[in-house]
Parts: sequence; structure tokens; C-alpha cells
Amino acid sequence: MNAEVIAIGDELTTGQRLDTNSQWISRELAVLGITTAFHTTITDALDDGVAAFRIAVERADLVIVTGGLGPTADDLTRDVLALVAHEPLELSESALEVVESRFARRGQPMPESNRRQALFPRTSSVIPNPEGTAPGIDIEIPRQSQGATGASRVFALPGVPSEMRVMWRETVVPALLALQPEGGTICFRRIKCFGAGESAVEAMLPDLIERGRDPLVGITAHEATITLRIVARGANEAACQAKIAPTESIIRECLGDLIYGTEDDEIEDAVIAVLAGAGAALATVEIATQGQVAAMLAQAAARRHSGSLAGGIVLPRLAAGRSVAELARWARDELKATHGLAVGPVVTADDGLDSVDIALVGPNVAEAVTHRLGGSGSLRLSRAAKTALDLVRKRLRLHS
Ligand code: AMP
Ligand code: MG
Repeated sequence: MNAEVIAIGDELTTGQRLDTNSQWISRELAVLGITTAFHTTITDALDDGVAAFRIAVERADLVIVTGGLGPTADDLTRDVLALVAHEPLELSESALEVVESRFARRGQPMPESNRRQALFPRTSSVIPNPEGTAPGIDIEIPRQSQGATGASRVFALPGVPSEMRVMWRETVVPALLALQPEGGTICFRRIKCFGAGESAVEAMLPDLIERGRDPLVGITAHEATITLRIVARGANEAACQAKIAPTESIIRECLGDLIYGTEDDEIEDAVIAVLAGAGAALATVEIATQGQVAAMLAQAAARRHSGSLAGGIVLPRLAAGRSVAELARWARDELKATHGLAVGPVVTADDGLDSVDIALVGPNVAEAVTHRLGGSGSLRLSRAAKTALDLVRKRLRLHS
């Protein structure tokens, strides 16, 4: 089975917005063993849509399209599909009820334009949208060109990435699994690491990251955070989990303390968790990282309803004669915390290399490290911020 991914929207073709949906969907398709052969990006114009879909259904067994399902006059995906399938658009009473009820819940009357979102090509089915008003469309479109056989399966989803992803997971993935001969289900496990590069992590996992392995292990890096994704296929959820568990154990054994969390965890979530576990309160003070450490911690503390962040201070420079460790003690005392974390200024050494000093102080800890600033631009500071956070995670876990 080969796939084509189509992104619809003037904001994409004019370069005002980056098409992230196609990247995300193509990665998801790869996990399912489906090759994406074509990416197409088109305007909102009806003619462009029809032309692109005529080509797509001829050359791809599967077409995933995002965008153009909104209520406004420029959202024409449903009209395009109806034209290419040679089918009329019909009102789906059940879809209309869902759209109406979303407005009713907000205490608003449904604008007349939203009725369009309940129109579907005759033979299509509705893909429910639990997050928004635009339902998706699932339709089989027969090939029309001379000598062509069969049909192409088209899934149309809204452009809003969060809505698209939920609908993908809840409806499209099960439908695609059902199309595949082995059927069954698919489960994922993400393990998050920090403190080593992508290739170093890969080298620590002999034979695990191999094409065709079952379960499959993939590795991706984003701003120095490494994610290992285990993908297992099985008859049911329990069978998948039984495959995932031994692979996860191997990863945990090989990577040890580099692992800070799972799934959507960020390092700052792990830090807030160890602080809470130790009954500690942290004060931060930053020079080079411009408040990034405090911002990340404040967001994680809010997510976790935690009072473990005593406060964060941002300073323009280090006072003459003061050390970064002194700064950490000062912040701790100033904000009446148990622990103080300081990130010093950028220092350029004789060899031209930049570094920052990071210090952590607390009841059982007094630690200072020098972090070399690699990379470029904003990335090097966000790495320094994460290194500071990771120091707290590692030290408090040892001492709690
Ligand atoms: P639409 O479903 O066409 O009304 O799109 C709704 C919003 O989703 C647009 O305003 C964009 O901000 C966003 N969006 C649409 N298509 C994409 C895409 N391919 N990648 C990322 N964002 C998108
Ligand atoms: Mg649009």
C-alpha cells in the first residue's frame, strides 16, 4: 500500500505557515508500514483541489488530506471530494446534531455556515471530531482513468494539528490496521532521555534500533532531549504490552540514569517530581539562560499543581568577585527555599570556547559543573537550561 499526503490551505502555499501535518502523518504511516510516495500542497481553490485529487487517487492506494473542512466559504475539501467521486453532498442528520450540540454546550446558537460541516459525499462516512466542530470524511474513490482498477481510500481531516492527531489515533489508525492482512492493534511506548547525544544513545543500545525488529525501536532528538519509541503490533493491547515490556527493560538497563521519564514528560516535569518526592523547594537564579530554567519549572509546577518551585530570579550579570555557587546560596536564602540552583554568565575561554557554570546547593548537596555551550543560537542556551535542570534531577534522586 502506498500513500499520498495532501495539505490544503492558502496559508501553506503562500509560505505563511509551515505544513507540519504532512510530516507528522508521514511518520505515523511509516510506523504502520505504509510508504508515503507523494506529498502535495495545494491552495484552497476548488479547481486546484479537484486537479490534485484526480492525480492522487490514480497513483496512491491511500490519500490522507488535512485542511479545508471548516465552515467558511474557502473550506472546500468536501466539495472537492464530492466532485472527484462524482457524488452529491448529502446532509448527515447525526453529524449535524453533533455540530449543533457543540454550540449548544457553549450556550451559543449555531451559525448557519456551520451546517456545511454536516454535508458529506453520499457514500462516505463521518470521522468523529472529539475536539472541534469539523468532522472528517472517510471515502473510497474509484479510479477513473482508462485501464485503471480498484479504488483509493481517502481520509480527510481538519487542519488544526491537535484535532487532526486525535482523529488520526482514534479513527484512522484502527481503520488502517483493519485494511492490513495481519490486522490486530498497535501500541507505543516513549522513553525520554537527556544527557547524551543521539548517536551515543544509539551506540548504548546494541541491535535494538534495527529496521524490521519486532517490536520496533526508533530514536529521535529534539533540543537535546532524546526520545526512544517502542512500537509493537499484536492481536490486542495485552499482546502489544507483553512485547513492549522486555524491550523497555533492556533500554532501562542500558541507559540507566539517562532516562528521566516517559511519554510526554519533559525534564522539568521530572525535576518537579523529585523535588516533591524529597519535600524540597527550589530557588533558581539565572544569568546566561535568561529565565528559561524558571519558566520551564513554573510551567511544570503548574501542570502538576506543585509548590516545589520557591521562585526564580533573572540577573543581567554576576557581581564582581562573586561565584556561581555563592549565587545559588543567595537565591536559596532570598527565596526561603531548601535548594538553590544558579546558572552563571557565558564565559569565553582562551581557546574561544564558551561555557557556563552551573551550581546546586542544598542540605546534602553542593555541586558545581561547567557546561560547554555547543550548537548555535537559542539551542545552546536551552541545552544549558536543561543541563541545569538535569543536575537537580540527578542529585535529588541520589539524596532523597
Ligand atoms: P482548516 O482545517 O483548513 O480550517 O485549518 C485550520 C488551521 O489549521 C489553519 O488555520 C492552520 O493554522 C492549521 N493548519 C492547516 N493545515 C495545516 C498543516 N498542513 N500543517 C499545520 N497546520 C495546519
Ligand atoms: Mg484552511
